[in-house]
Amino acid sequence: MSMQETKSTCPYCGVGCGVVIEHDGTQITGVRGDPDHPANFGRLCTKGTNLHLTATPVVIQHQRLREPAKRAARGATPEVISWEQANREIADKLLAIRAEHGPESIGIYISGQLLTEDYHAFNKLARAVLGTPHIDSNSRLCMSSAVVGYKQALGADAPPCSYEDIELADCILVSGANPAWAHPILFRRLEAARNGKPGHKLIVIDPRKTETAELADLHLQIRPGTDVALCHGLLHAVIWQGWTADKFIAQHTEGFDALKELVRDWAPSRAAQVCGVSEADIWQAAEWFATSPSALSLYCQGLNQSSSGTAKNTALINLHLATGQIGKPGAGPFSLTGQPNAMGGRESGGMATLLPGHRDPAKAEDWAEIEALWGVPGLPGKRGHTAVEMFEAAARGEIKALWIACTNPAQSMPDQATVRQALERCELVVLQEAFAHTATAKYADYLLPAATWGEKEGTVTNSERRISRVRPAVPAAGESRADWRIARDIGALVDAGLGRAPRIAADGAEDLWLEHRDATRGRDLDITGLSWATLDADGPQQWPYVTGSTPRLYTDGRFATADGRARFITRPYQATAETTSPQRPFALTTGRMRDQWHGMSRSGSVPKLFAHEGRPLVRINPGDAAAAKLAEGELVHVRSSRGAVVLPIKLDENIAPAGADIAMHWGDEFIGAQLGINAVTHGAFCPDSKQPELKFSAVAIEPARLP
Ligand code: SF4
Repeated sequence: MSMQETKSTCPYCGVGCGVVIEHDGTQITGVRGDPDHPANFGRLCTKGTNLHLTATPVVIQHQRLREPAKRAARGATPEVISWEQANREIADKLLAIRAEHGPESIGIYISGQLLTEDYHAFNKLARAVLGTPHIDSNSRLCMSSAVVGYKQALGADAPPCSYEDIELADCILVSGANPAWAHPILFRRLEAARNGKPGHKLIVIDPRKTETAELADLHLQIRPGTDVALCHGLLHAVIWQGWTADKFIAQHTEGFDALKELVRDWAPSRAAQVCGVSEADIWQAAEWFATSPSALSLYCQGLNQSSSGTAKNTALINLHLATGQIGKPGAGPFSLTGQPNAMGGRESGGMATLLPGHRDPAKAEDWAEIEALWGVPGLPGKRGHTAVEMFEAAARGEIKALWIACTNPAQSMPDQATVRQALERCELVVLQEAFAHTATAKYADYLLPAATWGEKEGTVTNSERRISRVRPAVPAAGESRADWRIARDIGALVDAGLGRAPRIAADGAEDLWLEHRDATRGRDLDITGLSWATLDADGPQQWPYVTGSTPRLYTDGRFATADGRARFITRPYQATAETTSPQRPFALTTGRMRDQWHGMSRSGSVPKLFAHEGRPLVRINPGDAAAAKLAEGELVHVRSSRGAVVLPIKLDENIAPAGADIAMHWGDEFIGAQLGINAVTHGAFCPDSKQPELKFSAVAIEPARLP
């Protein structure tokens, strides 16, 4: 067959780079960056460059789930069955559980790696077909603190910036993020922008000395979890020096006086003591941020994955509002999304705390609008369990059936003992997946093969609100089907069992996208001026899109609150949910490796992606290792109150004393002890966003003794 090219989007991180897939119609043979895509202009990072190697015949043969399968009993080997049998049996079991225990006994747990159209189908499956409020996404582990932070401060879940602001900013503050590894193409843009701009300032706030921090003019190596204290100290310095944007504050904000009162007690000397950094560095960072013509902040999991995640987000946004660093080129609080379509999931409302079009499940009028749009009366009318809550409810026996799509909670969720208890206790576990060998697959009663990158059709939205098309280049592997189709077909059987017409009546991705588009009418993310044809003809576009793409929000100083004024959010600094002690003296953070992605189900299929780092390690400061008489490479137990893993020690000057770091990608198959790294982490979460505190666990690190 002749060689062909298909434009699509990278399925890894939230940068959302455009790719050109090279193929012959049956097999993907290569991939390169799309020179026309405004996220990456042709560049790709190591993960993106090697995407085609995740779709080789060998990977498809040995690592993909290719046929529906069923376990006769837990622990049994799955046996291949037909789609007809799988769909029928799953629908019957869902109907039986629903009849006996009620709709709320069913939970659906999906993924920021699904396409917007998949999200929309699952949202209807949960709320309109099954009638359960319990649908949430692994984006809960990723972006929910950023969502709530934006809503509380600015009135809408809308990152106000664009990637071009990286080039336009005079000062960039990176907080709780390591874009050099986690968002590499944005980091390349940042590096290039600095080279071309004398006087450019880069400030990095991170407990670890990362590759991003190495580039910084100023690295504030704070104690883990003290971000709010630092922001309060920075704001105190800004106010003390008279660097506040008084006219902007008066005209466009509310609540500054209360915040001023709070930060009165946060002199840089106190913040320095709490955060473990120098007072002079706080004054310097405040000056650069406030007095630069434009200041942009980039932030991610270091702020979000915290029991005070929302407070960390709003403390940073406070700094922008106080200094007027928002609504202009090169300025603004810019949350970087982790997953490729965390944004699309938020837009389509496929989460426990959201409804389509950024509506709010706490508002009866928002439910009424969705009932009218979908033509379905009697939707659940309340918010459901978020991720951690859902698995805790299943562990208690309240959730009886879990349908999991495109994610691996038996590896990625914190407090694995509870998660696995939940999976074992459920009467029905359905797993819809592209890759066969995930930890969660071991718990599934039914395994449904899902199509994946290179095979799927739809859209994703990246960190800068840019909607890009995802296109299929080759047929789906084996009998795999599009995620939305699996949800639709089983949903139709459930609807039939309840004596009604199908409530997900789409024939393709575009149908679903059009329904999603209708739900945005008149909302902050309105895309009713955008069409599938425009996306195909003119390429990716940024929402809102009524008459055209919108690169930057709030340029007129009017925010998305009812009165148009942004809110300063006054929240005190709070310690992490658990603190270190003589018994558990190390503050463990989890982070990312440069060339791997999440649980490695996709990236782990490419041997060369292990060249940068090939095995799990726990990194600690050499001084701590010497004090504990631990040597490089020695096996240790990393033990929290919840569980332990056994890993070799890596001595690393970049880890602060009393800190420890483990990459989050490794699961059971790599780590000798059971349950992977999340045996150690815990499920304490932010009260506002429900995002768990994956960035701080108090642990002991002790030599591993042979039994
Ligand atoms: Fe893919 Fe992210 Fe790399 Fe771009 S930066 S190629 S989206 S992994």
